[in-house]
Amino acid sequence: MDKIQIKDIECFSNHGVLKEENVLGQKFLVTADLYVNTRKAGTSDSLEDSVDYAEVAHYINEIMGQRTCKLIESVAEIIATKILIRYKSLLGIKITIKKPWAPIMLPLETVSLSVERMWKKVYVSVGSNIGHREEHIQNAYKAIRNNEKCKNAYMSTIIETEPYGYTEQDDFLNGVICFETIYDPRELLDFLQDVEKQGGRTREIHWGPRTIDLDIIYYDDLIIQEEDLIIPHREAHIRDFVLRPMCDVAPFFKHPVFGKTMTELLAELEDKR
Ligand code: AMP
Repeated sequence: MDKIQIKDIECFSNHGVLKEENVLGQKFLVTADLYVNTRKAGTSDSLEDSVDYAEVAHYINEIMGQRTCKLIESVAEIIATKILIRYKSLLGIKITIKKPWAPIMLPLETVSLSVERMWKKVYVSVGSNIGHREEHIQNAYKAIRNNEKCKNAYMSTIIETEPYGYTEQDDFLNGVICFETIYDPRELLDFLQDVEKQGGRTREIHWGPRTIDLDIIYYDDLIIQEEDLIIPHREAHIRDFVLRPMCDVAPFFKHPVFGKTMTELLAELEDKR
C-alpha cells in the first residue's frame, strides 16, 4: 500500500495523567502514516489528486491543542478519527505519538504509542415487515449515509420475501447495504441498534415482525465468535433473502469461513430445494 509519512511533528500541549503535565505542558512528537493510493497523483502530478501533507500536519497540531486528555491513547484515537473523516481519500492511517519528556523520574529517550485505523468494507442486511416498509428501509439507509464514520454506501435491489422462522406474519422487504466504516465491529453493532431503535424497533418475538432489522452480515473478512456478536452472521450462508441481495452487490465476495462466493452459496441453496 502507498504511504505518505509526516514524521515527528513537534507539538506543545498539555496531555497527561499528572496535574503538572496538564498545567505546564510538554513536547509531543506526532508521526502520521497516511495510507493512500498515489497512482492518480503520480500520473497527473496534481496536488488535487493527493493529500496535502502540510494541511494535515497543521490540522494535527490544531487537534493536539483542542482539548486536554489524560492518555496518549485518547489523543491518538481522536487524531486518527478526525483525519480519516476529513480526508475521505485516505484508506487508513497510523498515528504514532512520542513523549520525549515523559515525567517518570528516569532518563529515557521517548515513550510512544501507535494506533492503526483503516476503513473497512461491511455488508449489513436490512429487513422490514411492518407499516411503511420501504420508508423504514430508506430511513435506515439515510442514517448510514449521514453518519460521518461511514462512507460510500450503496444498497442492493430490495426484494419481497415470505417470513422465515415465525411464519404467522406479513411478508418482508429485504436488502443489503454495503459501505465502508471506521467503527470497529462492536461500535458498528451499537450504531445499528440505535438506528433500529430510532426506526421504532422493539424485540418481542424471536424472528417476529419488525419495523426495521439490521444485521451485520460481513465485516471485511473478519471472523468473530462472541456471545452477543457473531460475524459472519451465523445464517448468512443459508438465508435466501440475504444471499440474493448479496449476489446483486457482491456476487464474487467469498464467505470468510466457507470460502465460497455468494453466487456459489445461492446456487447450493437453490439445489437443496
Ligand atoms: P435480531 O433480533 O435478529 O436483530 O438479533 C439481534 C441480536 O443478535 C443482538 O442482541 C445482537 O447482539 C445479536 N447478534 C449476534 N451477531 C450479530 C450480527 N452479526 N449482527 C447483528 N446482531 C447480532
